[in-house]
Amino acid sequence: MDGSEISDIIIYLNSKGIKSPKGIDYWDPNTIKAMLKNEKYIGDYEYQRKYTVDTMTGKRRMNRGQVPKYYIEDHHIPIIEKHIYESVQIRIKENRREPVPDARKAGTAGRESYYQKFYCGECGALISRYKSSIYDSRVGSQWRCNHSYRVVTSNCSAKMFMEKYMDYNFVKALEDIKKSKKFRALIRKSLSNLELSPSELEDKEMIEEQIEKLNHQLYTAVDMEVQKNGKDTNLINDITEKIIKLRERQLVYIDRIEKLEDEQERFRNLMKYCENIQPISFRKFHNMRPRIQQGESLYLKSNAAKNSTYMDLDGMDHFPEEVFVEYVLSGSINLEGRIKFKFAEDIEFGIDMTYEDYQRRFEEEKSKIQWEEFMHSEEIIKLKEFCKIPRKPIEIKNHLGISSNISYEKRFRVPLLKAGLIELIDSKCNRDRKYKWVDSNDEV
Ligand SMILES: [Zn+2]
Repeated sequence: MDGSEISDIIIYLNSKGIKSPKGIDYWDPNTIKAMLKNEKYIGDYEYQRKYTVDTMTGKRRMNRGQVPKYYIEDHHIPIIEKHIYESVQIRIKENRREPVPDARKAGTAGRESYYQKFYCGECGALISRYKSSIYDSRVGSQWRCNHSYRVVTSNCSAKMFMEKYMDYNFVKALEDIKKSKKFRALIRKSLSNLELSPSELEDKEMIEEQIEKLNHQLYTAVDMEVQKNGKDTNLINDITEKIIKLRERQLVYIDRIEKLEDEQERFRNLMKYCENIQPISFRKFHNMRPRIQQGESLYLKSNAAKNSTYMDLDGMDHFPEEVFVEYVLSGSINLEGRIKFKFAEDIEFGIDMTYEDYQRRFEEEKSKIQWEEFMHSEEIIKLKEFCKIPRKPIEIKNHLGISSNISYEKRFRVPLLKAGLIELIDSKCNRDRKYKWVDSNDEV
């Protein structure tokens, strides 16, 4: 297990047939992270790790020396062996990625917060950034199911997804949360699952009373042993053992109370954030804009423009990374590209969008921008002025300097006529057919 990363630990746990705390086979990397930070799982038991501030509400805080702390090593059978735990602790510290300024451009990074957080909805494997030697500035980073792309025998047919697509899904999901009754209902249900029932509260109280009693017995026993010069520690061990057992039961309740408080606050903050979101347009999110300036020729610029994208990936990043890190436990993406974000163990939410929808949407927006480029181009400005009086096609072509008939038809006459911007002044003789710019007040 030397040099193991979290995914290795998942493989290790699976190979040993160890189920996750929820009893399912599927280990969440977040659970592993939490476990590695918690010494309970390595078999040590730190008694009074947290202590009760308020006995009425059961509010607890970390014990930083306010009450005595006992650290009992090797108290129970470890799930993760101690040396693994220790080496992983070191690795977690070492592996913390530092953001590399130009890494996205160089094609070496990808969105940091997506690592170890996204799963393939088909096979359950983690998805990872597709490592291409060349960074394509037109698509940016891409992600793909680990299994489908690294394992030759894999029968998972998941394809690649643009990182921008995943980003967009998250931003739109946040916007939807604001108006979603379903999401609010999910929160309520999730919180009520954490709440202690009356009988559980009663049980908790009973445990606390017993601990209190045993503590007194322990003090008395210790006193007695001290007087006897420590000859017989059986009684102390017995009492300690009982306390620890009760304490474990109590901790389950206390963890739920704490989790409930934390979750209430977390969701309050999430909702507050979502309330204040200003919806962002598809175009703005992708920093899409015309590639030529107003009044420039479509043709002069076309060669340079051909190679550049309508989407500016190096432009403003509209992805709220800190919100993602704070509120999303994990995400899954299925074959069609439908993404679900897990906001709590029992809360999944996402927009109803497929990768195909997204690509179609992108093409639509691109066409709109292309039309804008066209309408603001030097050629259209000239044509508009020239066709104030009806002109023959040959005259228009000469005026704009277009030699190709196909180009004239496809790029000018057909689209302008279709858009109702030019009208045909018909005549009986084909030769005398003329076009005139349609005057309207809402022109560009
Ligand atoms: Zn897969």
